[in-house]
Amino acid sequence: MTSLLQTEKRHLWHPFTPMQAWCDDAHDPMMLVSGQGCYLTDQQGNQYLDGNSSIWTNIHGHNHPTINAAIRAQLDQVAHTSFLGFTHEPAIQLGRQLVDLLPGGPLSRVFFSDNGSTAIECAIRMTLQYWKQNGHPERDTILTFDRAYHGDTLGAASVGGIPIFKGSGNDFGYRVLRIADFTALQALTEEEISRLAGAIIEPLIQGSAGMRLWPKGMLRSLSDWCKARDVLLILDEVMTGFGRTGKMFACQNEEVVPDFLCLAKGITGGYLPLAATMTTERVFEGFLGPGRAFYYGHSYTANQLGCAAALGSLQVFREQRVMEALPAKISHFTALLDSLRELPAVMDIRQCGMVAGVEIGPFAPEHLMGVKTCLAARKHGLLTRPVVDTIVLMPPLAVTEAELTQMVEALRLVILEITPGQPG
Ligand SMILES: *Cc1c(COP(=O)(O)O)cnc(C)c1O
Repeated sequence: MTSLLQTEKRHLWHPFTPMQAWCDDAHDPMMLVSGQGCYLTDQQGNQYLDGNSSIWTNIHGHNHPTINAAIRAQLDQVAHTSFLGFTHEPAIQLGRQLVDLLPGGPLSRVFFSDNGSTAIECAIRMTLQYWKQNGHPERDTILTFDRAYHGDTLGAASVGGIPIFKGSGNDFGYRVLRIADFTALQALTEEEISRLAGAIIEPLIQGSAGMRLWPKGMLRSLSDWCKARDVLLILDEVMTGFGRTGKMFACQNEEVVPDFLCLAKGITGGYLPLAATMTTERVFEGFLGPGRAFYYGHSYTANQLGCAAALGSLQVFREQRVMEALPAKISHFTALLDSLRELPAVMDIRQCGMVAGVEIGPFAPEHLMGVKTCLAARKHGLLTRPVVDTIVLMPPLAVTEAELTQMVEALRLVILEITPGQPG
């Protein structure tokens, strides 16, 4: 082990990681040193396909000249200035371009923060404060769904529905009503409905639940239900935003316009941390008047380098016609995934655009087969991470058809290896 890795094990602490096993002498952590397009290179010079877009963030590939140039140009001006009491051009240009991504610009107000969890935090705080100061203090509850994942800050975790992400607590500081699905929504009492301030959902697909797809039309029905009762709809598009589902935003697949759109991960093309909570003029107007303000913000709100990277990413979307190229890639991906279904260890395959989950099994969770499969996949040049026994395949949108083939073939080989006695 190099002394660098000894220092790492001596001083660092990783997210969602059992650190005892990590620090074990037998564990040889992979250090990533460079990236080009859809490939990453480790400390030994081995190349891997970035099969989960570096935890669902990368869009146009690594080291993209346009995004690099946008960041460099901004760096020569200034890296960061405060957004409290000041403004700057990259934020203004980005805000305008984000608004224009939805036809007609129905979400005309953009509030910047740093990551997916804070984007959710903003939407929830805005929703609760909106009703509190606009004549409906009794609307104090956020509706959410089982197995939801909305981030790790306490406020965002409160609307989550996956026990391991919730730590020791349950709901923190505000009321949460958690239900299973649209059928359960129709069973709510008038009393329960009257207390709803907003509803939050990951549209089309729940990522951290293992790429679970909502039934087609569910988002549309939820949106109609919310509109009829004036419950504000918060869409968590932290994972699905920026083309992952085949449309720029997942809500466009069912022609839904929410009251809040939460964006992060892919907003900068996966280069720098930045997030945006977009909302309507109606919500914004509810915060106008003497003494009123949205009392929330972070030191790095609207970081100039982050905004520049996001502008660079949107420029790539336009110049390289990224969205136009997606339908062919998605069909190719579907055909490749279909070819995995014949493997005995493949239980289910769930796909939404450029996002897929390949569920293997049946294995007892304590066998950690998902983790073992992803570790074994490294030998075949594929990097990804599972959700329990669901292997995530979510390459950058820039992936080529040949790279998609290589990625799925790597997974096929590993699945065959981990199921001994199966015909290869
Ligand atoms: C990743 C994710 C978040 C949290 O984003 P962070 O940037 O990790 O805080 C929230 N919602 C969804 C759907 C996500 O996938």
